[in-house]
Amino acid sequence: MTNAPEILIVEDDPQIRRFLRATLAAEQFRYHEAVTAAEGIAQAQARQPDLILLDLGLPDTDGLEVIRVLRLRTQTPIIVLSARGQEKDKIEALDLGADDFVSKPFAVGELLARIRAALRRAATIRDGSEGTTFRAGKIAVDLEARVVRVGGAEVHLTPIEFRMLETLVRHAGKVVTQRQLLIEVWGPQHSEQAQYLRVYMTQLRRKLESDPARPRHLRTEPGVGYRLIAE
Ligand code: CA
Repeated sequence: MTNAPEILIVEDDPQIRRFLRATLAAEQFRYHEAVTAAEGIAQAQARQPDLILLDLGLPDTDGLEVIRVLRLRTQTPIIVLSARGQEKDKIEALDLGADDFVSKPFAVGELLARIRAALRRAATIRDGSEGTTFRAGKIAVDLEARVVRVGGAEVHLTPIEFRMLETLVRHAGKVVTQRQLLIEVWGPQHSEQAQYLRVYMTQLRRKLESDPARPRHLRTEPGVGYRLIAE
């Protein structure tokens, strides 16, 4: 299968590399391995993989530096493999342009779901096939007309609610950090006002979710940010 997606693993822990190799091979993905940050950057440039799995704790340089360098020249999806207790690094990785993260020890199913979602998003962006209407269950968001419907009925959103929803729609499936959301909706001077998000998210859920207390689509990623789930 020559069209199988190619994944670059950047990880220094041999046991985790072995686990990733077995997982990816079982799903017919092709893969390459790098054990240092320098090797990871070199391989990413030489091989142009479809996706990068990146450990943050690498022997030579911080994995965050790898994201910084790669994002200067490529939009290849990057999924960070983070250890528990690295909340700060995880958030910084997302702010630097990583697409997603999985926390170690990770479950195979979750890892594969994140990989598939990231590959799908990248393909959609590449084909320019992002329609103007986004759907998540009963919710339909027409980004061009700026109209939101739930089960066919139009719902009125305030300009801030709409901008917040629009930001999540543009990154659908992907975690958006509190900081990213604040900057995109309120501007850089408000990047620390996380309480705004809680207030407006509660309102959005009340207007869009069938059970606002147990949201199906507008999910909280505890301590990190929010994620819009389409399915
Ligand atoms: Ca490591």
